[in-house]
Amino acid sequence: MKKRVIALLLAATMAFALTACGSSSTTEETTDTTDATAAEDTTDASAAEEAAEDTAEDETSAEAEAEESDASALYEEAVGQTYVIGTDTTFAPFEFENDEGEHTGIDIELFEAIADEMGFTIEWDILGFSASVAALEAGQVDGVMAGMSITDERMEKYDFSDSYYDCSIAVAVASDSEIESLDDLAGSTVVAKTGTTGSQYAEELAEEYGLELLYVEESSVMYLYVASGQAVACFEDYPIVQYEIARGNVDCKVINTSEYSYPTGMAVLSGNYPELVAAFNEGFARLQEDGTYDEILSHYFE
Ligand code: GLN
Repeated sequence: MKKRVIALLLAATMAFALTACGSSSTTEETTDTTDATAAEDTTDASAAEEAAEDTAEDETSAEAEAEESDASALYEEAVGQTYVIGTDTTFAPFEFENDEGEHTGIDIELFEAIADEMGFTIEWDILGFSASVAALEAGQVDGVMAGMSITDERMEKYDFSDSYYDCSIAVAVASDSEIESLDDLAGSTVVAKTGTTGSQYAEELAEEYGLELLYVEESSVMYLYVASGQAVACFEDYPIVQYEIARGNVDCKVINTSEYSYPTGMAVLSGNYPELVAAFNEGFARLQEDGTYDEILSHYFE
């Protein structure tokens, strides 16, 4: 009897269990499933959206990070390197010999500060402007930092850093000269520096005003030509000649400036030393932000 009762009980329990399983549980399950599906659907939908957003965000930040790390990987390649950089001789305030006999100026101070910031070393080669460019092309220097204008023509051959200055071109005559305009200059002999944007401007005006154009290698020689009367006018980047006039080094006055101006950058041969260009740009950005760049300029301009 006991056995029977147990058997019945078991049967009842099983029946109940089956019923429970069969119906309510199924219903529940279905409901559950439906609910779950619905819930999941909603969750899925928003989760999917979120996931997609996350992925998108991840990708964007991954891309940004990759770009950043690409750029940082690139400029980090400059760490510990030494670069030979060609520069000009007398091109104050960008580079010149100061009273202590040191070759200094905006280009020198700025690039040295960038090198310090970014962990590379510069070996300066004071060659003159056109000689620096020739040395760059011959692979004798790695880069040129010489108040070099960024022009479309040059960009075909060189890679430039970001610009750190803008220069228009000035036409200067002796301060006691009666020449006051380009019209007054017509038919005279003028002097410009080989391979410069100043000489390009001179060439443009030479045609228009019938000028005879002489070429020299150094700005200082150009000013001597004007002082001695070998040339009536010289062509120079405006901030340069203005600086020399202001510090009493050059007895000239500016009678004309070009309508256009050029940005100024550090140049390497196209495709060469991309890490140096990246390090320059990163360093320059940092020095602009922390005030060092303005501080350097203040050594030369009030
Ligand atoms: N900015 C001018 C140029 O690039 C002159 C540079 C210089 O004489 N150092 O042509």
